[in-house]
Order: sequence, then structure tokens, then C-alpha cells
Amino acid sequence: MIPYGRQSISDADIQAVLEVLKSTWLTQGPTVQRFEASVADYCGAGHAVAVNSATSALHIACLAAGLGPGDRLWTSPNTFVASANCGLYCGASVDFVDIDPVSYNMSVERLQEKLERAESEGKLPKIVIPVHFAGQSCDMEGIARLAKRYGFRVIEDASHGIGGRYQDQPLGNCRYSDMTVFSFHPVKIITTGEGGMVLCNSSALAERLVRLRSHGITSDPARMKGEPHGPWYYEQIELGFNYRMTDIQAALGASQMAMLDEFVARRQYLAKRYRQLLDGLPLTLPRQHPDAFSAFHLYVIRLHTHALGKSRRAILEEMRGRGITAHVHYIPVHTQPYYRALGFAEGDFPEAEAYYREIMTIPLFPAMSDAEQDQVAEALRETLGVAPAQKEACHG
Ligand SMILES: *Cc1c(COP(=O)(O)O)cnc(C)c1O
Repeated sequence: MIPYGRQSISDADIQAVLEVLKSTWLTQGPTVQRFEASVADYCGAGHAVAVNSATSALHIACLAAGLGPGDRLWTSPNTFVASANCGLYCGASVDFVDIDPVSYNMSVERLQEKLERAESEGKLPKIVIPVHFAGQSCDMEGIARLAKRYGFRVIEDASHGIGGRYQDQPLGNCRYSDMTVFSFHPVKIITTGEGGMVLCNSSALAERLVRLRSHGITSDPARMKGEPHGPWYYEQIELGFNYRMTDIQAALGASQMAMLDEFVARRQYLAKRYRQLLDGLPLTLPRQHPDAFSAFHLYVIRLHTHALGKSRRAILEEMRGRGITAHVHYIPVHTQPYYRALGFAEGDFPEAEAYYREIMTIPLFPAMSDAEQDQVAEALRETLGVAPAQKEACHG
């Protein structure tokens, strides 16, 4: 089977992890610091705080932004459930903003309409989490303009996006947001096994994030309520968690950073190649906004099912039967049973729902060969019942 995504681990990565295993320090330590510095430097952000997943990163980012009971968080319905769950962890309520039919990202027009309504009802959100779907940046300039006007904080969920760019600058620089979150799950752009990170430009936010990832404990005498009893002394001054990343994971992450540009270049190359291979098929291929250079975490095609006379499910199952692990990203979060029980229903976000009915993710990952990609394209042509492209005439 050709998977839809897969990590690339080099001998250098393995060597880097072995070195930590042979050292005296396995838990969060100097290698986590080195990994954080490497990502902050790459992205042009002032601070980076590594944690054990992007889910944890989203949770402490929301807490650091002051989200609590009675507050509201808005995100995109076209995302993994973690982008929304972080609001519920904080006791806030969660709502969604429908997507743009071209980029599949949160629509700035829908956001503006919803903010106008919310303002008149006194129900403005405290936090909005735009998700850079498949690695393509949202319209961050538009979102930042609305953030200023309506006074909400912005946390970018860039779980798909490290290595991508917006207006020719790296995602993660937080130019248009308060914080940006990355995921290092193995299917994402670079991996630490499990892992995540929050980037920001505020030292106050960074200090809070560091404390929240480790039980709400401080060893800084300036932050303590009382006098230190001695060199062993620490104080818990708020409720935090154990969300720390290990040095073992950070060694893998720091080593993977060396390959980041190459990984994204290969993903971009394969995406361009799909454009040629799938030309003329009854599909809508991913479109890149001129402001965005996508990291291409996912390659999502939209099937013209009405013209095909075949359901998406039948097409996806036939692809799997042909050895291609096609997938679907994403089931709109508001249609999950847990969110339905909170009051959401089918029809609430029609653009995300229409999108969901027609899309399919096909394989794209740096180690995928051109031949494997040809195999995917061929399987798709056969499944859709479209004759293969005529080869250049070469009858001599
Ligand atoms: C993968 C993902 C997450 C969660 O990442 P973990 O590191 O697995 O916790 C959050 N948001 C989006 C958009 C994701 O794709």
C-alpha cells in the first residue's frame, strides 16, 4: 500500500537520537533548548516553547491568552478536532467559521459577518484559531485587521505548515498573530515522534507557556510569593501540566530541521507533478493563493462526483483496493457526535459540509518516488474510468 503520508528518517536522525540516549540527560534539557532555538531562528520568531504535542501546545496557548469559562473560541470546521477541543479544555465555548470554497481555509468574509452579528449580541470571541489547511496560509492580513477591530487574540494552528510561507515570510513568525502552533506528529512536515511547539514574540507569553507546560511551577525568585527556603526551592503559582518534550524527541526534531527545506521542496515538486499527471480529469486540484507558499502537508482533490456517476466512498474504496491509501481531511468538526451533543447540527456550515462530501486526500510525502506517484495517478484514472493520457507519438 502507498500511504497518504509518511515520515522520512535519515541515518543522521538516528545518530542524533542515539547521542542523547548515551548522554546523561533524557528529559527536557539542553537538546530541547537547541531545538527551540533552531525553530525560532528558522521562523523569525522571538520565542519557541516545545511541548509533547500540538494538542498540548494549543491548550497552553489558549490558557496563556487568558481563555477561561464564559469566553468564546472560534475556529475552522475543516480541521482536526484538536483545534476546537483546546477551547473546551479551558471551559470556554467553541464555535466555527465556515470555509472559503477555494482555499478550504477559514473564510474572512464569513468571519467578518459573524463578528458583526456577535458584536451586536455582545458575544464576541476572545480567541480565533485560523488553521493553515494542508500547509497553505490563511488570509492572515485580513484576520489581523479584524482582530484589531474586534479585539480578539489570534492563535495560528500551523500544524500542517512549518516550512511554508506567507507574503514571502516563514509561517511561525507571528507577524499577524499572538502565537503560532506546530505539530511534529509523524505524518506532518517534520517529526519528533509526538511533539508540538508554540511560537510567539512576547516574552510575557513565553514565560507563561514555559510555566504551564511544567505544572505551573517557577524557580524564579522574582515570581515567588514567598522567600526561597534554599537552592532546592520552587513554587507552584498556578495550575499547569506535564506537557514537556524529551531531549530524545528534540534530538530527532533538531536533526529533521536540517531537512525541512528539502522536504517542502520535494512536496512542492510532487504537487506540481500531480498537476500535470491529473490534468483533464473531472477533479478540482488544490489552488495556491499568490500570497501563500504551501508546505503541502496534504494533497486534497475535489471529485466532481455529480459528473462521475460514482460516489466518493466508492472511489476511495476502489483506490484502496488498488493499493493506494486515499483518505479524507476533514470530517467537519461540528458534525462529530460530541459537538452535535453541544448543539451543532448538519447544515450549520454548508461550505465545509459540501467540501467534505466531495474530497479525497491522495498520497504525498517526501520519500514518495516519481514512479509511485505515477501509480497513484494511473489508479485514479482507472478508478474514474478516464483513459490514460496519450503518450507522445513515437512510432518511428
Ligand atoms: C495534527 C493536528 C493537530 C494535533 O497535533 P498533535 O501533535 O497530534 O497533537 C492539531 N491541529 C491540526 C490542524 C492538526 O493537523
